[in-house]
Amino acid sequence: MKELVIISGKGGTGKTSIVASFAALAKQKLMVDCDVDAADLHLVLTPTVEKREEFIGGKVAQLDGENCTGCGVCMEVCRFDAVEVKQGDVYTIDEISCEGCGVCALSCPVEAISMEDAVSGEWFISATRHGPMIHGKLGVGGENSGKMVALLREQAKQLAEREGLELIIVDGSPGIGCAVIASITGADQVLIVAEPTVTAIHDLRRVSELARNFKIPTALCINKWEINPDLSAQIEAECAETGIQFVGKIPYDPAVVGAQLEALTVVEFAQGALPDAIGEVWKKTRQAME
Ligand code: SF4
Ligand code: SF4
Repeated sequence: MKELVIISGKGGTGKTSIVASFAALAKQKLMVDCDVDAADLHLVLTPTVEKREEFIGGKVAQLDGENCTGCGVCMEVCRFDAVEVKQGDVYTIDEISCEGCGVCALSCPVEAISMEDAVSGEWFISATRHGPMIHGKLGVGGENSGKMVALLREQAKQLAEREGLELIIVDGSPGIGCAVIASITGADQVLIVAEPTVTAIHDLRRVSELARNFKIPTALCINKWEINPDLSAQIEAECAETGIQFVGKIPYDPAVVGAQLEALTVVEFAQGALPDAIGEVWKKTRQAME
């Protein structure tokens, strides 16, 4: 079983359109949406949820008002201003502000505070017309996207093993933060989707360095390449210099928007140069994993 993670230096590069098209083109696969802060793979793959689970992102302090003596120690020690005092000496904890550090629980002289699991989202196993999909949703104020990404990838591996699937296609988080590191660690192959703009090149250098640091075989394709052919050529040259495998250029085509409106992948919706180019990128990416 192989795991392919598709990432980009920033959001909005067309990464998810490419992931969705790969979902339509690949065989014996499942998809994972690890772009948990801006999940949108479901808009194209229109999943039907078959299993729904709570996501425990960490701990949250719970104050037992019956035992609390109103001494105020917890409020003094909380660095996140999560302890509030209502009228008189009635203390409460604002769960949204609580970072779950546990200092208040350790400091309370009468053990009136306990640390409980914090439900900070949900994750799902769903069915799509292109195979199973694993995805998640963080709740309001839900953090720990890196932890959710790790959980989704682990669940995907277990499901792929159970169902005898050969490939996991991961829509990775953009950028270089904790969530993208959680998306690529231990993957078999990374594909970077780049756009030929000056800022995109800067982001791209950071993300490709990240993949290199993790020693993961890395390929790159350029989306909307003809919006700046000179920068596209520069990106291609940088790939050759840095050992990144260049797997193709995808043209700009308004059919991408048409496909999104119809909730279809580009390769299902469009004809001609665009789906041909995506098909070529898929073929070379698959070969890179062999
Ligand atoms: S430290 Fe304990 S007893 Fe004191 S106000 Fe906080 S919860 Fe109540
Ligand atoms: S667990 Fe930490 S952040 Fe939460 S209320 Fe207690 S001291 Fe504040």
